[in-house]
Amino acid sequence: MDLFELLHKDDLSKEEIIFLLNLSTKEDISYLYTRADEVRQICCGDEVHLRGIIEISNYCDQDCFYCGLRESNFNLPRYRMTPEEVIATAKTITNLGIFTIVLQSGEDHVFDTDLIAYIIYSIKQETPAAITLSLGERGFDEYRTWKIAGADRYLLKHETANPKLYGVYHNKQKLSDRITHLKFLKTIGYQIGSGNMVGLPMQTVEDIADDILLCKQLDLDMAAFGPFIPSPNTPYQNKKSGTVELTLKTMAVARLVLQNVHIPATTALATLDVDGRIKGLNSGANIVMPDFTPSPYREQYQIYPDRRCMTDEPQNCRSCLQLQIESIGRRISTSRGDSLKLTPKEIINWSFK
Ligand code: SF4
Repeated sequence: MDLFELLHKDDLSKEEIIFLLNLSTKEDISYLYTRADEVRQICCGDEVHLRGIIEISNYCDQDCFYCGLRESNFNLPRYRMTPEEVIATAKTITNLGIFTIVLQSGEDHVFDTDLIAYIIYSIKQETPAAITLSLGERGFDEYRTWKIAGADRYLLKHETANPKLYGVYHNKQKLSDRITHLKFLKTIGYQIGSGNMVGLPMQTVEDIADDILLCKQLDLDMAAFGPFIPSPNTPYQNKKSGTVELTLKTMAVARLVLQNVHIPATTALATLDVDGRIKGLNSGANIVMPDFTPSPYREQYQIYPDRRCMTDEPQNCRSCLQLQIESIGRRISTSRGDSLKLTPKEIINWSFK
């Protein structure tokens, strides 16, 4: 296959995606990253959007094999933030000029419909921020209630598009259900995000190509591709991490295929490589998602160990990111960073919701 032609092709087939994911020479991989960066600039511009994460609870009813928050991990100290702590943290984030708040937790039903709705409504009253929910698979009525309360986006990663592997990793859940939830969320007006983990046990490059194609089929607004990192006290604690290179290639190919979606340079990537965020931003990414969960909770949100920037204070984190982003000629956005698929009129309407 002619690499130059492929990198400029609009509609890549599965075979072509696999070919790009298998590129092996430094020179070819560098062409891929450069082209992804060009497409990112055409589709997203040079602004980098920050999404401020608050990990509101590390309780979880699920038992995903790769995750340190799984309910069978009895060694993890558990916490729930109070609504007042969550709302105060959201204000701190917006005071730093960051206008997306991500409320993230395991599947924790103590944070029930009303409590989450109260938190969403309160944050909306007190800040101009967009709210992304990342609370796992919840009830369809809950999604509806939270949308009415003011939530804007929902992040629900599919992790793998291979239904057999999905069943192995998630003994209580099915891929088809996850896809149904994502489609429902989109139907009722959420901007939706999903994505996979790169380097999961037994995963193949063919599976990753299917992940990218599933993201296209779902018409996502955000797609996240982070490396698998083994977590202690899980069935996969002794497995190998995913690699930085395959994660970057996945992000770059995803940028070519998905074009006008938000793609984050993940904290997991920065955990495996101190320059991971910059490498991600140079390979198709346009989003960074810093963690503003207050201490001591942040240390206890151990999806995987030794996450980058575990002890940074909010102001230091914001300044450090600004330096990194400006060092590559980019700038931090001061907008909410809504879906790139919305028309200008729709963006204005979203902003005033
Ligand atoms: S991946 Fe999510 S749903 Fe699965 S155990 Fe971890 S926090 Fe729970």
